[in-house]
Amino acid sequence: MTIELIIERSKPDRKGYALPKRDVPAYELPGVLSRQKTACLPEVSEPDIMRHFVNLSVMNHHVDKNFYPLGSCTMKYNPKINEELSRLAGFTKVHPLQPMATVQGALRMMYELGEHLKAIVNLDAVTLQPAAGAQGEFTAISMFKAYHNKKKESRAYILVPDSAHGTNPASVNFSGFRPLTLPSNEKGLVDVEKLLELMTPRVAGLMLTNPNTLGLFEKQVTKITSIVHDKGGLVYLDGANLNALLGITRPGDLGFDAVHFNLHKTFSTPHGGGGPGAGPVAVTKLLAPFLPTPVITKQRETYSFDYNVPDSIGKVQTFYGNFLVMARAYTFLRIVGRDGLRQIAKSAILNANYVVQSLKDYYYLPYPDYCMHEGVLSGRKLKESGLRTLDVAKRLLDYGLHAPTVYFPLIVSEALMIEPTDSESKETLDAFIEAMKKILDEAKENPDLLKNAPHHTPVRRLDEVKAIKELKVRWKT
Ligand SMILES: *Cc1c(COP(=O)(O)O)cnc(C)c1O
Repeated sequence: MTIELIIERSKPDRKGYALPKRDVPAYELPGVLSRQKTACLPEVSEPDIMRHFVNLSVMNHHVDKNFYPLGSCTMKYNPKINEELSRLAGFTKVHPLQPMATVQGALRMMYELGEHLKAIVNLDAVTLQPAAGAQGEFTAISMFKAYHNKKKESRAYILVPDSAHGTNPASVNFSGFRPLTLPSNEKGLVDVEKLLELMTPRVAGLMLTNPNTLGLFEKQVTKITSIVHDKGGLVYLDGANLNALLGITRPGDLGFDAVHFNLHKTFSTPHGGGGPGAGPVAVTKLLAPFLPTPVITKQRETYSFDYNVPDSIGKVQTFYGNFLVMARAYTFLRIVGRDGLRQIAKSAILNANYVVQSLKDYYYLPYPDYCMHEGVLSGRKLKESGLRTLDVAKRLLDYGLHAPTVYFPLIVSEALMIEPTDSESKETLDAFIEAMKKILDEAKENPDLLKNAPHHTPVRRLDEVKAIKELKVRWKT
């Protein structure tokens, strides 16, 4: 079929590579393209190839191998049933340009996922298009821009707390605004006095992360959202930390106008080497007219794509976004249900506090309040042994454990940002706590052991600066 098509369409070019149409039967490849000698392919037995790939699969670290407390990234277990359902032919064999009447099931899945997401955050409208949290930020802040433009207001700045993820100021710039830094107070929370000062009519809005990147809940959140609204601004929730809020509180109730979801964090789809992910965005009625197109609608029992959104910011992704990621998140949501979501948040919070409280007397806890789904310790005491947080991170790999996020948020020196997630057992958490304590003993007795770590991984410590400056993406040259 494919070959026929190629031959039908091809015309001989000057080099004569394509076929004269009628000489050769349609199923035969043109002579110039067919192989003259037997291909020199390696012969490998099934057991050998199996072992090869299994060995490769454990050379790197992943959630199926062991604990992965990478703060801010919510590296929870990815249930295998998500994979099974996302591989159903009804999901994988559809084409994005098929007539809508023939893909009603796929549209229904997307529509219902959107409805669930809206209910979780109590907002009015949603787009599933963005392919990552960062792109969700860009999408929402672009909608802020469209909203202010429509009102003919010229606002140039977006406030971003100094504890924010680096994607926040980047998204602000990408959307044509300038970021304005909002400092944290001594408790690690938004400095409300400073917000009052900075929130002028030139400011289009605020991007807030709640719980913030220190894992602390912004207790004054409703006050913060009102201050911004009073001056005509809009408030965006960086929803990367939604795992801590599920079923407990809803961003829509706290005054947020828009929020992104990281399906690859909160809703258990794989991070898969940086992608594909999905960063749907939910917004209030006020912002709904600016959503990317198409919007998925339901009339009676019929689902369709609506392109008639005159004030839309336009498309932000090819077609409708990462469809199979949505299928995975949908599966997860249908399985855990409303009560399950609340349980997820509670377990995530309990697990994080268990780890942080168990380690705070060994490491240093700069903001001593109880945390939400993650907590930030500091490795600053290691300096006594001439060591840094990075050395602890590398030594953890020798224990078969992934390191926490290090050196973020920027407002904590020697930060160790620990997010155990909801999917870990007490035994796993205890093993991590033990390893962290043991590494401190090693630091005192034999600092070089840490300095030269990791010792047992397929590659030893890498020169990260060199890796960035002389990027080689091939295994062998
Ligand atoms: C992960 C994260 C983001 C960005 O999300 P991506 O899906 O990685 O683009 C933004 N903010 C915070 C706080 C995050 O943890």
